[in-house]
Amino acid sequence: MDTLFGLTGVRVVEVDTEPDDSVTVYVQTAVTVVCPGCATPAARIKERVTGRIRDVPYGGRRIRVVWWKQRWSCLNEDCPRGSFTESVTDLPTRSRLTPRLRRSCARSVSDSGRTVAEVAASHGVSWHTAHDAFTATVDPVLAGEPEPVTDLGIDEVRRGRPRLAADPDTGRTRQIADRWHTGFTDLSGPQGLLGQVEGRRTADVTAWLEQRDPAWLAGIRTVSIDMCPAFRAAVPRGTTPRPAVRGPVPPGPTRQQDAHHRPVAHRQEQVRPSGP
Ligand SMILES: [Zn+2]
Repeated sequence: MDTLFGLTGVRVVEVDTEPDDSVTVYVQTAVTVVCPGCATPAARIKERVTGRIRDVPYGGRRIRVVWWKQRWSCLNEDCPRGSFTESVTDLPTRSRLTPRLRRSCARSVSDSGRTVAEVAASHGVSWHTAHDAFTATVDPVLAGEPEPVTDLGIDEVRRGRPRLAADPDTGRTRQIADRWHTGFTDLSGPQGLLGQVEGRRTADVTAWLEQRDPAWLAGIRTVSIDMCPAFRAAVPRGTTPRPAVRGPVPPGPTRQQDAHHRPVAHRQEQVRPSGP
């Protein structure tokens, strides 16, 4: 069997059920191994090594994969590589998680709106592992430009606690992390959260808006904001406040950021472009 629950390139040697009901699957490489430096087929074993990798839970049970593999000496004297360890696409050499476990962690946070802590617990990984998987998936999405937006929502989001630290120059305590963030949301389209910045001052909001293309800003028809002076001052030029109340921010599967950044429900007002 070369496929273990969808892991390609390895064969199952043994399966053990542990006292805590988790499952340990022992696998060996089942593909032809060649030197990654020169493609010479592996022929001389240097040492045997064991890789331990977490996989996605199966039927609610945690899966640990123990990979018995070899480190090989390259027989090509001209090869700079010298030696190499077996590796297959689904089980990269230095990774402690299967790629599909990383994907599952990331999707559970971004698409299901679960907190990183919940996802980490259900997948049997640390908070940092789940969070890293999540950010590795969403950062490239968030780094890209959002699609056109007709109705933009700008909303403050409470994010943990403020962090204080002593200034090394003056010795005075100052805030290094704001407890408030500002989120930008596609209110009428499918994109959900478009971006999130630290702080909720006018400058924090305009800094994000100024990074957008003028044509993207020109396409916005309405901007829904909390009618505080900071947000009022940040609304793009050519718009006029108009009172409105709206509900919670709709979830968005593609651009939703950190799920434990919970939107704060409060009264909102809507701003519409002025002029004829
Ligand atoms: Zn080689």
